[in-house]
Amino acid sequence: MARVYNFSAGPAVLPEAVLERAREEMLDWNGSGMSVMEMSHRGKEFMSIAAEAERDLRELMAIPANYKVLFLQGGASSQFAMVPMNLLRGKSGADYLNTGDWSKKAIAEAKRYCKVNVVADTSAGNFTSVPQASELRFDPQAAYVHYTPNETIRGVEFPYVPETGDVPLVVDMSSNILSRPLDVSKFGLIYAGAQKNIGPAGLTVVILREDLLGETLPGTPTMFDYRVQAENESMYNTPPTYAWYLAGLVFRWIKEQGGLAGMAALNERKSKLLYDAIDGSGGFYRNPVEKHCRSWMNVPFTLANPELDEGFLKQAKAAGLTTLKGHRSVGGMRASIYNAMPEVGVQALVDFMHDFMRRNG
Ligand SMILES: *Cc1c(COP(=O)(O)O)cnc(C)c1O
Repeated sequence: MARVYNFSAGPAVLPEAVLERAREEMLDWNGSGMSVMEMSHRGKEFMSIAAEAERDLRELMAIPANYKVLFLQGGASSQFAMVPMNLLRGKSGADYLNTGDWSKKAIAEAKRYCKVNVVADTSAGNFTSVPQASELRFDPQAAYVHYTPNETIRGVEFPYVPETGDVPLVVDMSSNILSRPLDVSKFGLIYAGAQKNIGPAGLTVVILREDLLGETLPGTPTMFDYRVQAENESMYNTPPTYAWYLAGLVFRWIKEQGGLAGMAALNERKSKLLYDAIDGSGGFYRNPVEKHCRSWMNVPFTLANPELDEGFLKQAKAAGLTTLKGHRSVGGMRASIYNAMPEVGVQALVDFMHDFMRRNG
């Protein structure tokens, strides 16, 4: 068996220990005589899997008791609509920060439901930075403030949490949830598609403060109503059971690695290895993002000579380093180094980059 180092932005690498555990339990979960995929979501076996996953996530993130945790479908992209549908609560507008491609999509969707006030916009600088905290002027009448703390495509990560006073802060944490400790109480609502740092695609985790529940826009589909989902413990309809189970295995794995503090230490070391290799290449490799807001999770880089791109990708693949092609809107390469990417994987990439430069520089 030859496992590669997979630098895909998502769906992305999962911890090998989790995959092995899932394999061991595939045909017979815990003496039930069936796989988790084949179980009723209302049976006591799956109920215990679901409850344990939630308990472990609450423990990992120190989620306060007045927050609900939902395990939904529809991806982060459905949240772009669910957020305004549920959180406008009689108000006409919301504040959004535009710091990249995912922010833009969230803004475009929100515009279908409300007046969007773009409080900061880094598009003029080609999304290579984040706004200064001191520049942000929020509308105290806004229903909420929305931002994307890690822009997966450009590799830009906020080094701070915006201060929004009494206005609920809503955050698309799809590509950096669980990557470091955070204070959940600063947020009204956190959402994340699972396929980057939580588990397989098909699951979306939503963590929201209870007092924000209950007043939806007229015509909101039942499935899009957070209150309905919360009252039914994410089982209003059949939930994505297998993805939920695997997410639970990932939560347990993170606990075994020292929780979010352990993840942060690992992620800081991994990203430093890679950025040091880029910055120390004398311009052969280049990352355009301002240093104070470089992402720990997604590291885009270009070659000074783009004619070498194809050879880089081909030789990297031959060396077992895959899915390094950059997003089509940016070009070059991108290495996504989520929680589950081991340090030796990043070291292998850095070694390859040195070697490639020696041969082509
Ligand atoms: C991947 C990603 C999305 C889209 O997620 P889906 O689950 O495919 O809808 C949204 N926001 C961010 C920040 C992402 O990285």
